[in-house]
Amino acid sequence: MSKIQMTTPLVEMDGDEMTRILWQMIKDELLLPFIDLKTEYYDLGLEHRNETDDKVTVDSAEATKKYGVAVKCATITPNAARMTEYNLKEMWKSPNGTIRAILDGTVFRAPIVVKGIEPNVKSWKKPITIARHAYGDVYKNTEMRIPGAGKVELVYTAEDGTEERALVHTFNGPGVVQGQHNIDASIESFAHSCFKFALDTKQDLWFASKDTISKKYDHRFKDIFQEIFDKEYKDAFDKAGIEYFYTLIDDAVARVMKSEGGFIWACKNYDGDVMSDMISSAFGSLAMMTSVLVSPQGYYEYEAAHGTVQRHYYKHLKGEETSTNSVATIFAWTGALRKRGELDNIPELSAFADKLEQACIKTIEDGKMTKDLALITSIDNPTVLNSRDFIIEIRKTFESL
Ligand code: NAP
Ligand code: MG
Repeated sequence: MSKIQMTTPLVEMDGDEMTRILWQMIKDELLLPFIDLKTEYYDLGLEHRNETDDKVTVDSAEATKKYGVAVKCATITPNAARMTEYNLKEMWKSPNGTIRAILDGTVFRAPIVVKGIEPNVKSWKKPITIARHAYGDVYKNTEMRIPGAGKVELVYTAEDGTEERALVHTFNGPGVVQGQHNIDASIESFAHSCFKFALDTKQDLWFASKDTISKKYDHRFKDIFQEIFDKEYKDAFDKAGIEYFYTLIDDAVARVMKSEGGFIWACKNYDGDVMSDMISSAFGSLAMMTSVLVSPQGYYEYEAAHGTVQRHYYKHLKGEETSTNSVATIFAWTGALRKRGELDNIPELSAFADKLEQACIKTIEDGKMTKDLALITSIDNPTVLNSRDFIIEIRKTFESL
């Protein structure tokens, strides 16, 4: 059988620990035998980031701008313990943060739904994708403890020196105060990324905030979304048969719980932080969560939502058997390959991605899975496989389809 040919390389960002081990197995068993794989390789493993003074991370993000599609392995974000473990020159920043800052995107996270791993919410039949705005609000706040009676004001000083003031509160005794901000440009690119992703995946888009209470701040988010939608996306949404829907955040939460799923839920930064953990745990497992960064210019970076699975890696180093779930990492590859297929008009490549995803799902639904899933499945007597055997089982399923 001849291999599928590619025309444009994928930007391949290798990573760390157990996911680095899975990365190689996935390539060897599931990709290279079937595709004449073209990638531009960047080693984001912590050792190489350290050797290059983290330049490799920046280069990989720049390459993503050049080619449009990247696939990323999970990477270590260094902390004090990693400084000694890897003998680092500096406590390098989170690669995801660096890449996001360069591509200026929104992260979309969606669970991979399989029969036998039932969501805790009975009505959910289809995945719910969370789109989290990743700039500002409480994450870039300024806070003060107020020791006693006094007045707190917001002061804006324009470049020409003119001032605008607003009273926050006149304190009679001690308390606390917090200042938050966001910028129109960031909210606009968040909106564009959400509308583009909804069109791409043909799903409705929900957005919610608390504009009835926050009449200027949250209202600005609501207005920007509506203006951009009316001006640039309404016709395309009509044509695709999907809808954009705005509501209050408390109403959205209530509706989500009663929904069937199958839509994108755009969230402000804090809401997205909280709700993505709720959605992923209610759908079953972090190891079954995909993640894609979509830039407003239409660059895509696919990865798994989980980390490097450090605990399993240490077992692996000791020569012990591991049962690490590779599905989200495989879906990072299939997401990137499908997108490449669409952009380069290579339908075989997109079809390969669909078939490999189907093979992952069928393998699990046939009762063959890793330990994390075996612990929560409703399938009787599942077969628990180790990391490598699970991938080999997926290959067998793939070849049987
Ligand atoms: P983690 O790698 O997500 O793993 C946390 C735990 O979740 C694991 O110990 C394991 O539970 C379970 N788990 C996660 N993925 C799994 C999989 N594929 N298969 C089976 N079980 C899975 O988070 P972490 O251990 O807190 O972080 C490790 C490193 O990852 C850190 O250095 C962090 O900086 C990095 N990280 C990177 C990214 C990224 O690159 N996107 C994201 C998050 C964290 P059991 O041990 O109970 O089996
Ligand atoms: Mg969180």
